[in-house]
Amino acid sequence: MKKRETPIRVTRSSMPPFEEFAEMIRPLWDSAWLTNMGEYHEQLEKQLKEYLGTENLVLFVNGHMALEMVIQALELKGEVITTPFTFASTTHAIVRNGLTPVFCDIEPDHYTMDPDRIEALITEKTSAILPVHVYGNFCDVDRIQAIADRHGLKVIYDAAHTFGARYRGKSAAAYGDASMFSFHATKVFHTIEGGAAAFSQTWMDHRLNCLKNYGIVDQEHVVWVGGNAKMNEFQAAMGLCNLRHLEEELDKRRRVTERYLENLEGLPGLRLPAPQKDVTPNYAYFPVVFDGFGASRNQVWEALAAQNIFARKYFYPITSQFQCYEGQFPAADTPVALYMGDRVLTLPLYADLALEDVDDICAVIRGLGV
Ligand SMILES: *Cc1c(COP(=O)(O)O)cnc(C)c1O
Repeated sequence: MKKRETPIRVTRSSMPPFEEFAEMIRPLWDSAWLTNMGEYHEQLEKQLKEYLGTENLVLFVNGHMALEMVIQALELKGEVITTPFTFASTTHAIVRNGLTPVFCDIEPDHYTMDPDRIEALITEKTSAILPVHVYGNFCDVDRIQAIADRHGLKVIYDAAHTFGARYRGKSAAAYGDASMFSFHATKVFHTIEGGAAAFSQTWMDHRLNCLKNYGIVDQEHVVWVGGNAKMNEFQAAMGLCNLRHLEEELDKRRRVTERYLENLEGLPGLRLPAPQKDVTPNYAYFPVVFDGFGASRNQVWEALAAQNIFARKYFYPITSQFQCYEGQFPAADTPVALYMGDRVLTLPLYADLALEDVDDICAVIRGLGV
């Protein structure tokens, strides 16, 4: 195959029609109100509450700050049971709150926290469980909640990958004490940078709204040591535009995903995304695990890169093995996460990825099989 001239990257942000966005931001020149809970901020918050089916939702400048501030708002102490098979944000949010992550292994089918392994990790210091609906796959929310209830623990989901997916007809916002969504430019739905926290208890609304604005309650009362994590009006305008096109976005991603499956299904040594019972997927990622395939994950990555096609080792390394945590968390504690991290590759997936390009990507992979 001839090397492509224009690279295919692992992702590409979906853009609303330019005129639509231009029209949205025009009024900002009249109002000159650019941030601090402006009109678009309020509109987007309302629309997202409706879409996610929750009464309780606060917007943030990004998903990571939403997660940090949810942890702060819940006043967690000690240890938090979490997964290392995730993006840096999940683990860092725990550590940056002065808490200790305790890594639970994942189950091998959908890469989410293995509920069979949680209870053995609970100690007197445990205050919460922080699982990730990784790649848009839902965690076993029922069993995790049952364990949390039995031990009096909070449950916070990293739902950064899960916008648009549903379990038994409900969005991820319906589960746990709180869920963090990311609206980063690379996510299924984006506000350039952005995020939200959804939560079950109404009192958190006031606290999170204060925390994201320095803990300021009013001009003379600063009640919490907050930070600055407010979503601005340009971000909210982008969100309002993109929300109008969400169904189309999901539909295009579905077509790309189906094309991958048509091309790769049945190839020995490949583990492809598997449907989950009662889950409506959002086609956020296309992770492939190379296990007993004709080439290793790294060889596949290199063969694709040689064609100007860029897949991503997502998640490698697993977060417990980051340099900044060196020597703190033995890799052997989470053998399944370690194993998957060494073998997984997420293939390019975005709404406007041409189906012919999917065929080309798959041809490179097939050429490496036995
Ligand atoms: C994107 C992402 C985040 C962080 O979201 P930002 O909006 O980029 O801050 C957290 N966790 C996971 C799993 C993510 O993929």
